Amino acid sequence: MQSITHIWAGWLLGPDRQQRLRVAHSLLALGVYGLFAVCQGLAVALGIMPRASLTWMGFYLGGALLFVALVRSGASHRLARDPSLTLPQTLFGLVAASGAYALAGPLRGAVIAISMLVVLFGASKLTPREGWGTALFGVLSLAGVMAWLAWSDPGRHDPREEGVLFMLSLVTAAAMGVLVARLARLRQRLMLQRSELAEALERIRLLATRDELTGLPNRRAMADALQSAITRQARLSEPVALVMIDLDHFKAINDGHGHRAGDVVLRGFAERAMSTLRAIDVLGRWGGEEFLLLLPDTTLEQALACVERLREQLHTSPFDEVADGLAVRFSAGVTACQGATDVDAAIERADRALYRAKNGGRSRTETA
Ligand code: GH3
Ligand code: MG
Ligand code: MG
Repeated sequence: MQSITHIWAGWLLGPDRQQRLRVAHSLLALGVYGLFAVCQGLAVALGIMPRASLTWMGFYLGGALLFVALVRSGASHRLARDPSLTLPQTLFGLVAASGAYALAGPLRGAVIAISMLVVLFGASKLTPREGWGTALFGVLSLAGVMAWLAWSDPGRHDPREEGVLFMLSLVTAAAMGVLVARLARLRQRLMLQRSELAEALERIRLLATRDELTGLPNRRAMADALQSAITRQARLSEPVALVMIDLDHFKAINDGHGHRAGDVVLRGFAERAMSTLRAIDVLGRWGGEEFLLLLPDTTLEQALACVERLREQLHTSPFDEVADGLAVRFSAGVTACQGATDVDAAIERADRALYRAKNGGRSRTETA
């Protein structure tokens, strides 16, 4: 049952979510026009409105149907910047209501309210200025019809009555203009807040997952990266290698050139390393001057070659920005990670291998 409703809704409204909302809004308008047509039919049947007014019914129902077709077919995308065609639909509704005023006879007072309903229909999309503009257009087009009726048929349309009706429509339109403009401003503020919130969330996400100094993933983000690499490894039976890297005698750089120079070296190391790595490799700042490198789809031998490339890269690009020819070296511990249960142990193995590399004289790589 639900799937039939789904199929129906899909056929009627279209596949895209935004588009569905637009089509639903136009369909709602068409439904309201339909109900007005029923009322008009009743008025004609009861002799309150002339039979000739049914032509006007054809005009507004046909127009509403055309708008549904334009929005549903996607043609409105090509025709206008706003694919909902809110402004044209609102202006059309106001013209339809003004025409109905001329034909409504004793019921014409009610048409003023209908005009304002049309303005309200556009409130969900119009800007404050458009809200005001449509309310003004509504009252001016009604005024035009009232003046024409009072001038051409003063017997049936007493100019004094039309004058009072005009005042009523003016007051209603002014109130409507204020309300719709306020709604539009509220909507604009909400949209602004929503985008600010999305920006703040993105900043929080970056703060929570990135190391501020180097821009590399932090320890927490590395845990996620490890998890997804291990899941991939299990699925594709790929080897995964881990490398623990620690800069050699980093304290001496801090002591000799200042803490800020140490920061420049950390950032520079991250940049140089990233330029030699593949897109799928993940280099994270593990802490201080220690980095963890995750190499998916990489054997132990390939990992060793990767570390040597990194060494070569550091060798060929000294940190001249800190001190002329300043060479930065590192020690590394490499291990193969054997699966989900091995992650913590593999990190420990890499750490121990790194310790051996340090003890073995630094600027070298050990495996475990
Ligand atoms: P080793 O070769 O044995 O690794 O010696 P090392 O000097 O590199 O290691 P040690 O652990 O003695 O010193 C690391 C220094 O790194 C101490 C700490 O102040 C410095 N450090 C840690 N984090 C930062 C940072 O974010 N910026 C700077 N400039 N220094 C940092
Ligand atoms: Mg160190
Ligand atoms: Mg260290």
